[in-house]
Amino acid sequence: MIDFTPSEETRMIVKGLRSFIEKEVKPIEEKHREYFESEHKRLNEDGSLKPEVKAAIDKVRMRSGELGYYGMHMPADVGGGGIDRVGMFFAHREMARHGLGLNMYTLAGPEGPTQMLLNLNDAQRKKFLAPLVKGEITTCFGLTEPEAGSDIKNLTTKAEKQGDSFILNGMKTFITNAAHADFVQVFAVTDSKLYKESGYQGVTTFIIEKDRPGFKVGKINRSIIDDGGQAELIFENCKVPKENVIGQEGMGFYVAMSWIGVGRLNIASMCVGMAEYLLEKSVEYAQQRTTFGKPISKYQHVRGMLADIATELYAAEHMVLNCAWRMDQGEQVVKESSFVKYFCTNMLFRAADKAVQIHGGMGVMKELPIERIFRFARVLRIVEGTDEIQKETIARSLGL
Ligand SMILES: Cc1cc2nc3c(=O)[nH]c(=O)nc-3n(C[C@H](O)[C@H](O)[C@H](O)COP(=O)(O)OP(=O)(O)OC[C@H]3O[C@@H](n4cnc5c(N)ncnc54)[C@H](O)[C@@H]3O)c2cc1C
Repeated sequence: MIDFTPSEETRMIVKGLRSFIEKEVKPIEEKHREYFESEHKRLNEDGSLKPEVKAAIDKVRMRSGELGYYGMHMPADVGGGGIDRVGMFFAHREMARHGLGLNMYTLAGPEGPTQMLLNLNDAQRKKFLAPLVKGEITTCFGLTEPEAGSDIKNLTTKAEKQGDSFILNGMKTFITNAAHADFVQVFAVTDSKLYKESGYQGVTTFIIEKDRPGFKVGKINRSIIDDGGQAELIFENCKVPKENVIGQEGMGFYVAMSWIGVGRLNIASMCVGMAEYLLEKSVEYAQQRTTFGKPISKYQHVRGMLADIATELYAAEHMVLNCAWRMDQGEQVVKESSFVKYFCTNMLFRAADKAVQIHGGMGVMKELPIERIFRFARVLRIVEGTDEIQKETIARSLGL
């Protein structure tokens, strides 16, 4: 029998994380409330984060690192907490159920230590991974190019071997945290013939430090979530020593696969936390808000919306737990990762749409985090594999 009851250790971690968010993170967010209510106040002219906002984010991340939350998903031998996937579901759910804001920086995302970096050798681990696990530095995951988003078989960024080094040329786009990362992880074609023939081999992943000559951050995009993070990475004859290769040369996509499934599960877990927050706030609001002499919670249409959110949330929670448990058993969960990423992001999107509707005019005002979650939910259906790419993976698993 599968038992998803959180272990005593997980319960203690979640309790500690909740207390950290409430006692330390919320006061910082309240001090900077204007930045979180009004996105245009968060960003500089060029789209990067204002220094005060960046300092607040850095403070939360580093304190979380000090307390051992930030890198707790990583194995103990690299300084992490060795928490399993089921435990991380409960942690991500907790992190996301406080309304979107600084609490989202308490656990590592793609800007932090990921399973992909377990492919680093000892020297690289010491230099790059150890400070990342502690939250002292940040990174980014550079795969997408202007002509290669879903179509990862269309990369044009190239790395040509020259003695013991590689010369990188090309460009990445929409890369989260690019503008602020201490080093970037970038995918480049090292064997064009093999890449063309196989579509998966012939691509190598490199670490590029932010001050390496030939590398610069290009235009910073202002997306609908205005988080000040997505930017271009530009490489012009950027010379990189072979010591900066992550894992095996030519096997970059296999290196990435060690994280992609986990990344999808993390997003799905956060969706459950955010939907719980929306449900709680919507139930409260429906009981408080009176029209035509009675609370709106008495109207069948409103009750139906709340019942729909609760039902889908229940389904989402159980499918994520099941997928996390399978991962912990060492199972391959390619289609299951697509199930949870596709279902949970859409579940959150529908929940956020209903939460906006239930809150009426207040639902679209920036005073409440509801509209921000609605916009974030829309983005989550595109990143880390769009809805359609997840459905393609699922269809393939059906033999189609
Ligand atoms: C906020 C944000 C953060 C991001 N962060 C990162 C990051 O940190 N690192 C990184 O590398 N990338 C990042 N990305 C890029 C993201 O991964 C891509 O935007 C995504 O993969 C989609 O690629 P695209 O935008 O080129 O769309 P396209 O691939 O051009 O897709 C356009 C439409 O066509 C559909 N489509 C494409 N191919 C197929 C197909 N075979 N079958 C059916 N439908 C298809 C898509 O589903 C979509 O609806 C980020 C994007 C955003 C918006």
